[in-house]
Amino acid sequence: MTTRRRFLTGVAGAALGSASGIWGAKASGEETAKDGGKSNKIGKMRLSFRPYLLELRHAFGVAGSTRKTTQGVQVEIELDGVVGYGEAAMPPYLSESTASVLAFLERVDLSQFKSPFELDDILSYVDGICENNCAAKASVDIALHDLVGKLMGQPWWRIWGLDKDKTPPTMYTIGIDKPEVVREKTLEAERFAVLKVKLGRDEKSDREMIESVRAVSDKPICVDANQGWNDKVYALEMVEWLSEKGVVLVEQPMKKTRWDEIAWITERSPLPIMADESLQRLTDVARMKGVFSGINIKLMKCSGMREAWKMLNLARALDMKVMVGCMTETSCAISAAAQLSPAVDWADLDGNFLIGNDLFDGVGLAANGKLLLNDRPGLGLVKLDAPKNRLG
Ligand code: MG
Repeated sequence: MTTRRRFLTGVAGAALGSASGIWGAKASGEETAKDGGKSNKIGKMRLSFRPYLLELRHAFGVAGSTRKTTQGVQVEIELDGVVGYGEAAMPPYLSESTASVLAFLERVDLSQFKSPFELDDILSYVDGICENNCAAKASVDIALHDLVGKLMGQPWWRIWGLDKDKTPPTMYTIGIDKPEVVREKTLEAERFAVLKVKLGRDEKSDREMIESVRAVSDKPICVDANQGWNDKVYALEMVEWLSEKGVVLVEQPMKKTRWDEIAWITERSPLPIMADESLQRLTDVARMKGVFSGINIKLMKCSGMREAWKMLNLARALDMKVMVGCMTETSCAISAAAQLSPAVDWADLDGNFLIGNDLFDGVGLAANGKLLLNDRPGLGLVKLDAPKNRLG
């Protein structure tokens, strides 16, 4: 049995035990594993992938929707027995799905590259395969970064020249819900030093959300309105009220294209106003200057770690604030984003705590709520024997 076949058998056996748990890879006809997974011998690098549904611990409510699962795809790039892990997570508003990510990955041909150290060329090629599909692109980017870091024997925070002691605390997200559930979720967040509260449904709900959190906690709060406020004067009044309630920043107060009104709010706001839905990639960053105080970088929006690092540096050159955020993700993509975190103002990297079936140990949480980066190479991941609920 080849190494590849042993790998496929082991993973498939430990996986979901269903068709959706079987690893696939780009079909080449070169080699077919007995378990139904396919393998393509691509130079030395081998790309494989499988769907993995992320199960949310609580139904997750934001302005406009509520859901209990997030579609995901797990990715591996293997070279001479060293495996780089990556993942795509696809919340419905990103217009990517398991099917679209798998279709994209089928098109990725790494055989033209001699080495994973051609990281910039490889990822430029991946980005050029087609428009959009940023979560799919991020899954390859993350796996390649993990592989390259492992081959170099260094974690990415060190390769980027960062000090792992400078990580910020991560926020813990409280979705829109009934007051008693909000109080329960707030109490459940005792290990976290900063709370992120979702607002934007309506005024009564917004005020009730904040009052419910404040009934049981005096921790700093970051508010995410998720484009939910429709009037700039009302939005500014809310920001001023929130400021009195111990809120430290507000994300995306109005619809993503209403730049003039958002700039009007930012100019008058006592709190930093951060862009999330208004920006996606590197080319969007400069036009956020003067509209928002700063940007929220997410790997699934921006195509991965390579572009996230460029966005961070461009935002700093423009004297803008930076936060790094996430989707509901396993500790794979969370640990990838966390590599950047010593360089940001705020981190919102709690996606691995919001699911009940994490697949990795990676970035941890210190006793004071700060992100805890480790010295392991790449993304610092250890694959778990069985899915884990980190707050269970
Ligand atoms: Mg947001």
